Amino acid sequence: MVDCCSQPGLLPFEQALSNMLAAITPIEDIEQVNVEDAYNYVLAQDILSPLNVPGHDNSAMDGYAFSLKSLVNNKTLTLVGRSMAGAPFQGTCGLGQCVRIMTGAKMPADCDTVEMQENCQVDGENITFLEEKKFGAHVRNAGEDIKEGQAVYSKGHRLSAIDVGVLASLGIKRVSVYRKLKVALIATGDELKKPGQTLTDGDIFESNSYVLAGMLNKLHVEVIDFGIIEDSFAAIKHAFEQADEQADAVISSGGVSVGDADYTKMVLDELGEIGFWKIAMKPGKPFAFGTLPNSIFFGLPGNPVSAMVTFHQMAIPGLLKLQHANDIKRAHVQVKTTTDLKKSPGRMDFQRGVLSINDVGESVVTSTGSQGSGILSSLAKANCFIVLPSCQGKVNAGETVTVQLFDQFLI
Ligand code: AMP
Ligand code: MG
Repeated sequence: MVDCCSQPGLLPFEQALSNMLAAITPIEDIEQVNVEDAYNYVLAQDILSPLNVPGHDNSAMDGYAFSLKSLVNNKTLTLVGRSMAGAPFQGTCGLGQCVRIMTGAKMPADCDTVEMQENCQVDGENITFLEEKKFGAHVRNAGEDIKEGQAVYSKGHRLSAIDVGVLASLGIKRVSVYRKLKVALIATGDELKKPGQTLTDGDIFESNSYVLAGMLNKLHVEVIDFGIIEDSFAAIKHAFEQADEQADAVISSGGVSVGDADYTKMVLDELGEIGFWKIAMKPGKPFAFGTLPNSIFFGLPGNPVSAMVTFHQMAIPGLLKLQHANDIKRAHVQVKTTTDLKKSPGRMDFQRGVLSINDVGESVVTSTGSQGSGILSSLAKANCFIVLPSCQGKVNAGETVTVQLFDQFLI
């Protein structure tokens, strides 16, 4: 979807995203990791199940196993043995007979049905079945969860905690994954101080690298923090050269608009092929993207909300592509807004909102209030973006809007 309402001179958001993705080539370095270390890695192979899960027919209940034919004329069967998880029944269970069976235990060869113990009357070795049963009741069949040879995961899939458990349950010991990316973080600005340092007149505490490092952690990359770099050509050039040598991707914040102290553009023009884009999105109009000799580069705006939103909407899909991971599908819902939303046509807005349930049980969204691009607390209160397309003007309370739920990177 390319919108036609963007202000002249601004690149529509979708076009910026697709231009950026087209310029990124995924890494190809593969390594083998043990399954216990595989959490959050991106698979570099398809996984086919080496076995059936479950591996054998087994009981879903604690009770008695038998052949259903046994109950046609007779409701009382004779107990001939036990089948426990890890210690299956070894004998034969003929007509008129049953076997005590526990949950997960292997079904005896001649049995097809299980009755739970609550529906049986026990008198020594005589077990009376109180209810009618259906053939195969309470039996889990071999391969009903996963069949041998079935595709379980494909290349590009990021392994969750559950996925690691599934791999273990298949007896898989090692998997091929793409190596971890190294990502360099650079904060630029003479006014920035780290928490713990003393602020002098006009200074502020640096916060972007903290937000970005947290989000990068969820992408399972190694972060190389270059700290705060002063606004000087030499210092910025040195930092970018070092970062490019060590990292697969370099991310800076600040200095991408064209202010007096914005040396980033001069340095990057000298070092690589960087486009300085004005994207038709709000917050986050200035954004730089391109290639350095050994890495890709994302230049985020300095304002904390703009830095976070451009990182989330632009850099994350770029880094996912670089690390060979499948793109994430962000969840969108259509709901009514409880508040008026200020907006003028020309840019796609990512306003911060709180999605909640109102008194009559409907999902509704409420703006977090002031939407200034420096107000990080507006983001801290939010649990979603209210995504307003470029063409959209002001929205009145009660109108329906599109909401993008915060994903795993933002919570
Ligand atoms: P700039 O893009 O460098 O002009 O910065 C825009 C605004 O964002 C200025 O008010 C900066 O002080 C602020 N800013 C820049 N970098 C950071 C940072 N790392 N953490 C917090 N605020 C920042
Ligand atoms: Mg600056």
